[in-house]
Amino acid sequence: MSEKYLYEEFTWPEIRTAVAQNRVAVLPVGTIEQHGPHLPLVTDVLTASEISRRAVRQIPSEAVLMPPVFYAFNEHHLDFPGTISVRGETFINYVTDIGRSLAHHGFRKILLVNGHGSNVPFLDIAARNITNETEAICAMAPWWNLLPKELISELRESEKPGGMAHGCELETSVLLYLRGDLVQMDKAARDMPVERSEFFYWDLQSPSPVFFQEFFSRYSQTGTLGDPTKATLHKGELFTNAAIDTMIRLIRELRQREIRARVDHH
Ligand SMILES: [Zn+2]
Repeated sequence: MSEKYLYEEFTWPEIRTAVAQNRVAVLPVGTIEQHGPHLPLVTDVLTASEISRRAVRQIPSEAVLMPPVFYAFNEHHLDFPGTISVRGETFINYVTDIGRSLAHHGFRKILLVNGHGSNVPFLDIAARNITNETEAICAMAPWWNLLPKELISELRESEKPGGMAHGCELETSVLLYLRGDLVQMDKAARDMPVERSEFFYWDLQSPSPVFFQEFFSRYSQTGTLGDPTKATLHKGELFTNAAIDTMIRLIRELRQREIRARVDHH
């Protein structure tokens, strides 16, 4: 029988063994959020958890995959039906408490894999809370940050910046590969702000230097931001597998990382 890696399928003695193996606990975090007329609400949960699952499946003795967090902070998408938003403090505390529980059981390395752009500041704080308040260390990575820059420049056809933002060429490609049955390509439409801006734009691969987020309905007509018409299953396969390869290296480095004693210099 192949080795278990899905946390919820372990018994408690098996969790104790997983801790003794110094496995990394991998927690995917998404959101339930509108993604335009062509992608499902679960898009960010699917990408984070499926990329994580495929990575952990390859190295089961080195990691465990946690059940994903589905709900997150999402006020700016509430003008579109379906989006669920959890208050920022609740979200940070919820993820922090999952990490505290893992640390309590003896896990010392925790990786948050993020599927939603607006999770970044909240998960950064949650990861720091876990690292500061427990004996574990916790890191966070958005899956799109795991893509090699050369691969993006080779495959990208949408405008830069702006073409890869939300329900875009990148996300739609990955969904086509992971769950093509949930993608309605006939409804995919390019949606980019008409005015060009030096500072106020969004792009997962060419981010603005300025942090700013207003209500999505102020600048997107369809709930999409970017150009999903450029998405293909082939790109999705290459993007997904590249993210998985990087994630495996990240899990391995985190697992090997020494947690040194603090030094009080008072
Ligand atoms: Zn998304």
